[in-house]
Amino acid sequence: MDKFLEMGKKMEEMSPEEKEEMIQKLRGMCTCEQCASYTDCMKEKGELLFCATGKSECLVRMKECICADCPVTPMMGLMNTSYCMQGSEKELRGL
Ligand code: SF4
Ligand code: SF4
Repeated sequence: MDKFLEMGKKMEEMSPEEKEEMIQKLRGMCTCEQCASYTDCMKEKGELLFCATGKSECLVRMKECICADCPVTPMMGLMNTSYCMQGSEKELRGL
């Protein structure tokens, strides 16, 4: 099975506490704050992990995207980038 779908299934089977723990772990791994496209607005709103949460509520000016080098990408089987502007992996796959 596709890694992203497999991980999604695993997370669905988790308890709310386990899911929250997993989300916090992924937020800790997210490298968005090191990206030139990451803004003060995003920081103020505590936005991270756009691959899961979808588009930023802030205005996005795309300068670069470092999602491809983020450890969450291989771990979750992500295939897209620029999530803060485009939406979550799920949305981009039309799931
Ligand atoms: S893939 Fe991108 S949006 Fe997702 S956690 Fe990594 S840096 Fe953040
Ligand atoms: S999703 Fe990509 S473009 Fe947006 S802040 Fe994260 S690394 Fe940068």
